[in-house]
Amino acid sequence: MLTYAWAGYGSLPAFAGYPYLVTRIGACALRHLTVVPADWSRDRLIELLQKQAASNQMSTCLVLGPADAIYVDIDRDRVETEAPVASTIVPSGMPVVERIFVPADVPETAEMIERRLELRTFAERQRGTGYIVGDNLEGGRIASSEDVVRLSARGAGDPGPGLGVCQTCGELAGDLLQTGEPGTRYPGPRVIRVDCRCANHNRCARCGETLADRRLSAYFWDAAKQGVWYVAAYSALSHRCA
Ligand SMILES: [Zn+2]
Ligand SMILES: [Zn+2]
Repeated sequence: MLTYAWAGYGSLPAFAGYPYLVTRIGACALRHLTVVPADWSRDRLIELLQKQAASNQMSTCLVLGPADAIYVDIDRDRVETEAPVASTIVPSGMPVVERIFVPADVPETAEMIERRLELRTFAERQRGTGYIVGDNLEGGRIASSEDVVRLSARGAGDPGPGLGVCQTCGELAGDLLQTGEPGTRYPGPRVIRVDCRCANHNRCARCGETLADRRLSAYFWDAAKQGVWYVAAYSALSHRCA
């Protein structure tokens, strides 16, 4: 269940302007940080944490002190959100700020504005130079011999019997066999899950709109190109509230 694996990232320092929320961006080093009201009770902040994680459908952590964190993990195969779990490990990583928003009813206090400026400085100090090509969740699972039999295409132009047309949006969705490429990170056959538009459940907690055109950390079938495309979780960072 819970993956504390995302808590620490190497020796990168954690922000000290408590309390704040950390959003995990896929399984890469990016962590979105946003300050939350210091005068709210612990219970109220935990409620906010749960609301944020449920809207975004991204694993989120509330950091209350140097060794006081509460995690809500999102598992892609579960409908309900995991219950909050307390930990003494505070998440760190490559910070990104001011891209993922808290609900509109969280007040903008002078105190929060001050800490937001501190956070901006903190993030600028650690700005990475490398660029990110995925979110490390794109691998799917290794295909069994049964998968290969069950999911192999029946000829040219057939995407495979694991995909079916969604009755709601008309797009293909289901399991797709990928043959893999020798010498790459994914050399053998793998099964990836393909999601249609209806499966896009990643929403902004402030405006309620989807964070990206497609579900995050997921593949979709591009009918025009007759192939799959992967939407990395960092696509959420391009969201702007209308
Ligand atoms: Zn659909
Ligand atoms: Zn929004």
